Amino acid sequence: MWSHEPHEKLKFRLGDKVADIDVDATPGFHGKKSNAATLQFERNLRFAELQEMLYARSRSGDTRSLLLVLQGMDTAGKGGIVKHVVGGGNPQGIKYTSFGKPTEEELSHDFLWRIRKALPEPGQIGVFDRSHYEDVLIVRVHNLVPPEVWEPRYDEINTFERGLVDSGTTIVKVAMFVSLEEQKKRLAKRLKRPDKYWKYNPADIDERLKWPLYQQAYQAMLDRTSTEYAPWHIIPANRKWYSRLAITELLIEALKRMNMSWPPPTFDVDAEKKRLASV
Ligand code: AMP
Ligand code: MG
Repeated sequence: MWSHEPHEKLKFRLGDKVADIDVDATPGFHGKKSNAATLQFERNLRFAELQEMLYARSRSGDTRSLLLVLQGMDTAGKGGIVKHVVGGGNPQGIKYTSFGKPTEEELSHDFLWRIRKALPEPGQIGVFDRSHYEDVLIVRVHNLVPPEVWEPRYDEINTFERGLVDSGTTIVKVAMFVSLEEQKKRLAKRLKRPDKYWKYNPADIDERLKWPLYQQAYQAMLDRTSTEYAPWHIIPANRKWYSRLAITELLIEALKRMNMSWPPPTFDVDAEKKRLASV
């Protein structure tokens, strides 16, 4: 159902403009919305299989890991990716962290301090629900630190990610984009339904008012931190079914490129079968 691999189709290319993103589009997908649920189910199984393989291999010494970085404005669908995509995996091998407003302790350290503590261990898939990129997004938009402090962070992030990749972590970065109107609808839903109140934060409206500044900050983030070793992917996210399918494919593709197989037995299988039969 994909005419083009999502990792190729969605990869950020220098010159791409946030203002030009068609958030309703479904790049590379030529199936119909009615196919989405079945396909999502099938691809979740494939993701789960590869994720378990990564975890299994760490038991026999493979030290590689994967890090999914989720960025996007409120209601973009980050939580849905965690629940409906990553949630299909084996929790033993998943390390989920959401990054909110830093604590006093976190603020007393370098901005990457809390990030380093949350990195995936060998065999794990780390999931960052927001990330170190908040330190060049909300921090920049709200002047939480002066430009002399946030400006060098782009390069610091690149150096940091280069080190992660060199030590065996595959990084999958996704930036999810919804329209201002779609965000309004989703926020309205959160205010209408008691089962959604927990996702609502009055501050979301304040962030909404700063949309143009966020667009600029997202543009700078993409321009300056999309590297060959850790590229950004732009996910049109007005259609949740599409963003979920696309990110599932990005994860599957990244895991496939790790060229894994099930770890070989560390024992003589036939001998063990005979022993078992005899007891
Ligand atoms: P949520 O993801 O809806 O739970 O909201 C978390 C909030 O924390 C968002 O408004 C983020 O922008 C904010 N946040 C995350 N990281 C930082 C940071 N480093 N500095 C300031 N605010 C942050
Ligand atoms: Mg929120």
